[in-house]
Amino acid sequence: MIGLIDANNFYVSCERVFQPQLEGKPVGVMSNNDGCIIARSAELKALDIPMGTPAFKLEGLRQRGEIHLLSSNYELYGDMSARLTQLLRDACPDVAPYSIDEMFVYLEGFTTEQCEALGRKLRQRIRRHLGLPVCVGLAPTHTLAKLANHLAKQDPHYQGVCLLNGQDHTTEALLKHTPVGSAWGVGHRLAERLAVGGIHTAWDLRECDTKQLRKRFSVVLARTALELRGTPCMEMNAVDKPRERIMTSRSFGQPTGVFAEVHNALRRHAQRCAEKLREQRSLTRAVMVFLNTNRHRRDQLQYFPNALIPLPSPSDDTRVILDSVRQGLEQIHRPRYQFMKAGVMLLDLVDAEQCQMSLLHQPVHDRHPFLMATVDQINQQMGQGTISFGMTDAPAAWQLRCAHRSNRFTTRWDELMQAGTHPGAIQACTSRT
Ligand SMILES: [Mg+2]
Repeated sequence: MIGLIDANNFYVSCERVFQPQLEGKPVGVMSNNDGCIIARSAELKALDIPMGTPAFKLEGLRQRGEIHLLSSNYELYGDMSARLTQLLRDACPDVAPYSIDEMFVYLEGFTTEQCEALGRKLRQRIRRHLGLPVCVGLAPTHTLAKLANHLAKQDPHYQGVCLLNGQDHTTEALLKHTPVGSAWGVGHRLAERLAVGGIHTAWDLRECDTKQLRKRFSVVLARTALELRGTPCMEMNAVDKPRERIMTSRSFGQPTGVFAEVHNALRRHAQRCAEKLREQRSLTRAVMVFLNTNRHRRDQLQYFPNALIPLPSPSDDTRVILDSVRQGLEQIHRPRYQFMKAGVMLLDLVDAEQCQMSLLHQPVHDRHPFLMATVDQINQQMGQGTISFGMTDAPAAWQLRCAHRSNRFTTRWDELMQAGTHPGAIQACTSRT
């Protein structure tokens, strides 16, 4: 069985952990520079305020106190995400983070009852230790686990944990009600093409002949159909593009604590990520750096930190990403640990063309499309890494506008919550137990 743990309205939920007075209120989190809405609480969704709404349009509502808008606080979200991963690692044998708030856990050899019980236990523990509401989807494949999680979120009857075995009536009913475009890895355009062929729901896709699918569409789609039947055949990174996040990571040949060595590895990963990003014509809004020590070496100190660096405007420029990677590494690197693995993840991707046309985003100043295209072209023709970027040294003088950012409660000494001076402080400590 595969479990998918996914936080509900993650950014908003992180804010509510430390500001419980926001519980039950319509809350939105804004993009960098307070541009537009990128996360909404259920209450804000209920007001029909769509994702991407420019913040200035909501200024009236905000000033009247009808809604609460916060600047994004990626440092807080990144740290809460690291804590969530750590909590899962403590409880499960195998954990694979998929995005900032989605983690897969692999439960081989567990019975369905044990899986369900573990799901409930994890959900409770995450709520209790981190204050975060999550839902758990359990199924034999990634694709079904994703749908199970969705169902757990939608239908209160499941109380946050939904298990689909792939063959039961629930699976069938769910798939018949799921538009094919909502299945994992089936994009908008592909869904339109499928509709022409009479494939409208996830169930229709599941019932298709996989040989035909492979011939008429792609191997990936054939795999999706198999996954919907409950046959696992999807690697974590094999999902058809455009990906929602891009990750490159690798283990070191020899564990190391030396900053320059770790930095060098990360620089390579960053450049590879940037290439992949441009290949799928996306821009990234945030860069995550993560490090792992060797968890099998019980005799060594363990440390699994990550750092999330938001960009002032969406970018696909290798130099911008490299610079964020260095900032991130400086935040989390501690020489006393022997690192086994290092990686870079690009998060909150947006479509480059849409982004340029859209008024929702700042004009993108720092793109040098010709330079980047030339580098990519040379590397494609002459082999990967033929040209690469040297050390970037300029400290970024990025001043983000974030007028409504909450404190970085979990990562800055001077921004810790103080008992007694903050009206929500005592409540925050007691309401979660
Ligand atoms: Mg989520």
